[in-house]
Amino acid sequence: MHTVTLRDLMRIWMLFLWCASCNCGPDPRKREALIRLEASRRTGGNITLNEREKLLDGKLQKLKQHDMEARQFPPSMHFFKAKHLIDQSPVFSLLQKMPKGAALHVHDFAMVGVDWLVKNVTYRENCYVCFTHEQTVRFIFSSGQPASRPHCSSWTLLRSLREKIIKSSAFLDRCCIIKLYFIRNLTLFTEDPDRAYPSQDTVWKRFKQAFLVAYGLVTYAPVFKDYLYEGLRQFYEDNIMYVEIRALLPVTYELDGKLNNKDWSMRACQDVVRRFTANYPDFLGARVIFTVHRGINAAEAVKTVEEAMTLHRNYPDIMAGFDFVGQEDLGRPLWYFKDALSLPEDRGVNLPYFFHAGETDSQGTDVDQNLMDALLFNTTRIGHGFALARHPVVKEMSRKMDVPLEVCPISNQVLKLVSDLRDHPAAVLMAEGHPVVISSDDPALFGATALSHDFYEAFMGFGGMSFNLGTLKELVINSLRYSSLPSQTKKKAIEVLLVKWDKFVSESLL
Ligand SMILES: [Zn+2]
Repeated sequence: MHTVTLRDLMRIWMLFLWCASCNCGPDPRKREALIRLEASRRTGGNITLNEREKLLDGKLQKLKQHDMEARQFPPSMHFFKAKHLIDQSPVFSLLQKMPKGAALHVHDFAMVGVDWLVKNVTYRENCYVCFTHEQTVRFIFSSGQPASRPHCSSWTLLRSLREKIIKSSAFLDRCCIIKLYFIRNLTLFTEDPDRAYPSQDTVWKRFKQAFLVAYGLVTYAPVFKDYLYEGLRQFYEDNIMYVEIRALLPVTYELDGKLNNKDWSMRACQDVVRRFTANYPDFLGARVIFTVHRGINAAEAVKTVEEAMTLHRNYPDIMAGFDFVGQEDLGRPLWYFKDALSLPEDRGVNLPYFFHAGETDSQGTDVDQNLMDALLFNTTRIGHGFALARHPVVKEMSRKMDVPLEVCPISNQVLKLVSDLRDHPAAVLMAEGHPVVISSDDPALFGATALSHDFYEAFMGFGGMSFNLGTLKELVINSLRYSSLPSQTKKKAIEVLLVKWDKFVSESLL
């Protein structure tokens, strides 16, 4: 971040006086000085690149130029239509190889590419399916015939259904159709997103449906653990070394219908993270931000915050803090929960908050105050903060308090807060060097990679030609700097990241 020093202002003023006295038009040196001053303000503007980094930056700028001049510029298009173009971009390929540090805003039910769920989970024994009246599906694992549900067909054993389809020669390709149908049910993908999702409410409705489809699969206790392990593997594969997961810690179920509580889910997360880091020693780990739906009432919120405090006390290594989830516009504002959220401080207990706030364009509503209230409740980071640019005082507060925004470009576009990512408010915030990290929110639902697609959209869409390798370097360092890791671990993690970074720079120059 850069603040204008008295020296900067004096230099510009002297140049102005000199120019005024000679009456020869704007001085090119003054112009140069202003361009440099502006460049120094943006994210990464104060990072000095070494010789090798400068070489890579030169290469990167040429690659960017190519994407900028293409007939179709991906960040200006809906991600569902732009994805195939991004996948072919050499900038994207470089970003995939780049060590990205941490993913700090990702949800537990949307980490794993849905292909994995269909191929590895729906083929397991005892998987039942029913078809709802809204043309979607529900899954459940059970040792016997499950009890029927309202608004759903009777449960069919998926294995029998597949066998029946295969036996019917007239429907040889139906298995592929059924696989595709499940994949469609588990994501928001559609060829024509503007027609399918004419409003924020329609896309959020579809979002909730996709979540419910995954819910029956992922909350089956053995799948819950495998899913998390696979999620970490997919993030690791995208060159991420640490993840903070917004997790509902749902009640999970066993084949005989026995239920496991939140404590079981937390312990399962801890076990999986330990197992994963033992198998992949250069992966730093993962921590959990316990979340609850913002539709709950005040009494339920008190109970939930108490639960969060207990989990934080019992699992200090893995439990990072607390947050609310769900569509902000339809949920209750943070201020409604003030009694519950004041509990930790009243009781002298530390419970860090990581609030989603400002994921809205409903200006002046109660929900629009969530950004201010998040800061009043000392949030550690702000999830999205899309509305921040319209709140100058809150913006100033977040900068002074060094509370970063977790910016998730694809999520904001798919959920209809912005259509052309060049118009995303984070473009202005990053031009001012406001603290930000880039994250992916629900990559599996959007058909995106763990983090690389979001990095592409932010790097190309928010910055155009003005962002450079220094921007990327600051963003990846930010991801660890603003993580919830203890300070010593954080310091070491940044050192490890910088070693990976140098290796990436050298290899990209070959
Ligand atoms: Zn989120």
